[in-house]
Amino acid sequence: MTGGAGFLGSHLCEHLLQEGCDVLCVDNFYSGTKDNVAHLIANPHFELMRHDVTFPLYVEVDEIYNLACPASPVHYQRDPVQTTKTSVLGAINMLGLAKRTKAKLFQASTSEVYGDPEIHPQQESYWGRVNPIGIRSCYDEGKRCAETLFFDYHRQHDLEIKVVRIFNTYGPRMHPNDGRVVSNFIVQALRGGDITIYGDGSQTRSFCYVDDLIDGFVRMMASPKEVTGPINLGNPVEFTIRELAEAVLDLVGGESRLVLKPLPQDDPRQRQPDITLAKNALNWEPRVKLKEGLEITIEYFRKFLAS
Ligand code: NAD
Ligand code: UDP
Ligand code: UDP
Repeated sequence: MTGGAGFLGSHLCEHLLQEGCDVLCVDNFYSGTKDNVAHLIANPHFELMRHDVTFPLYVEVDEIYNLACPASPVHYQRDPVQTTKTSVLGAINMLGLAKRTKAKLFQASTSEVYGDPEIHPQQESYWGRVNPIGIRSCYDEGKRCAETLFFDYHRQHDLEIKVVRIFNTYGPRMHPNDGRVVSNFIVQALRGGDITIYGDGSQTRSFCYVDDLIDGFVRMMASPKEVTGPINLGNPVEFTIRELAEAVLDLVGGESRLVLKPLPQDDPRQRQPDITLAKNALNWEPRVKLKEGLEITIEYFRKFLAS
């Protein structure tokens, strides 16, 4: 697995080890940390390797989950050239590795391939509306190009590919400073500081709890060869950002105030997955409600901030 020391990757490592797999976790720690997988190091079936996926990787594997790529705007905009390289060169190297080893290859793509969408909710058949030269483009276009490469390797070299488009996901081990909305609001509320709503808070997102998402990943990898994706994975229950702020404040309590800040450039107005395909092809749908998932995540950050 690449990107295994990140938020989603660390949960996936845990899950695969529990299923009895041997896991090679490849990460350059750009946005992930060794701490995220520290509890797995003693497991003889787990191996951690520092490696940047923009360089070739020669190892023997039978399944590859390609997750390497910073996912939050703060992280992916810090070094945008490296972000595109990670998506594109990382995809090429993993496709080359899969071609040589005949491994199945899973790609963590993103709802960002839809850009600021004109149709709602987003189905996989929608081609998207992405600004090719904006500050989010390094991420969006990098992921779009990776999808292109996956489907060309599939058509040209008969590679077994599994492409999922992930919508906003949250849970323990999100990076406390990565600027994503769920971690920001929780950390702000726990510290009693202002909760920063960008814009007027009427923009929407649909938040999936991490355990539900990982279940979708594993089902996708185990699906029949003809299921290549792309398949949306996310929670279709949509909230405004203001509703999210109020939900976090209700659960944490305290004195925080909601304050309005400028909306970042190219910030999508609305986002909600159509998960009909995942339901039909993978028999998957999310189970954890926002309140439940937030409670677990708040507990994690409470301990994290106290340590
Ligand atoms: P994350 O930033 O926590 O994890 C990404 C991991 O990739 C980190 O551990 C980072 O160090 C590693 N990495 C980055 N560049 C690398 C490189 N060149 N070589 C090796 N490792 C590298 O993010 P995450 O939320 O866990 O996201 C994982 C994947 O899922 C990403 O590909 C992301 O685009 C995708 N995704 C996530 C979400 C979400 O809501 N979390 C939504 C859509 C897509
Ligand atoms: N590659 C890799 N590990 C492997 C096999 C290939 O990292 O086990 C890299 C290789 O360096 C190349 C890329 O994957 O740059 C694409 O490989 P492919 O075989 O498709 O292309 P070619 O080597 O013919 O350019
Ligand atoms: N957002 C916000 N306050 C914050 C961080 C984010 O209002 O402190 C907004 C952001 O403008 C966006 C939404 O929350 O409209 C989700 O942002 P995030 O960065 O988590 O994910 P993405 O924009 O990639 O969906």
